[in-house]
Amino acid sequence: MTDECLSDETYAFMKGLIGMKAACTVMDLTSAETELRYASFYPVGDMLIGVRVRDLTKASNRPRGRSLKIIDGKIVDEPRANVTFTPALVPHHPEYNYGFWHINDGQEMALNFKASDTKAVTVLVEGFANKSRKDRFAWFCLNCVNPLYMREVETGRLGLPGFYGVEDDAINTFNGDKKLRTCNECGTVHPLAYSIYEWNDTPELQEARASW
Ligand SMILES: [Zn+2]
Repeated sequence: MTDECLSDETYAFMKGLIGMKAACTVMDLTSAETELRYASFYPVGDMLIGVRVRDLTKASNRPRGRSLKIIDGKIVDEPRANVTFTPALVPHHPEYNYGFWHINDGQEMALNFKASDTKAVTVLVEGFANKSRKDRFAWFCLNCVNPLYMREVETGRLGLPGFYGVEDDAINTFNGDKKLRTCNECGTVHPLAYSIYEWNDTPELQEARASW
């Protein structure tokens, strides 16, 4: 045997790969089944994938808001490119989508494109929550970026149900106390918070959703 031959070890490794059972995940972005399965986040290997679909034929669709991040002490409007990336711990808030600043221990990536003539799709990708991962729901004064209120959830331990439970509770607490929503630096009163789930909106929350 020369040096160019496969070692027994490499041969066995490669042979093993051929015989390995592997799951096959295919996403058809035009199918209703995909839309439903990824409506929240769905685990795929070491990733969590979410799909958000917009119907382009509905003229009445509320406009797509700005994608805001807090960078260098300022609220910045980040252009929605085809692919955007949010590093860990950068507060981000897509207007009209959810009414809080999401602060993630993990990184997030968003891919934006048209799936067909009638559908625009955003595919969200983040790492599957490891045991120590935390998420936070936060509010900063929209006038001077002074911190107002924050709640934290151990997503790694409690999973998505825990995440949504604390989200709900944080929103109710923030909305239920005007003192929490009033900036102690500049006196600006923060608009009401609202959740990812638009279909639960009261008229009051609908108004809040349309405002920030
Ligand atoms: Zn303020």
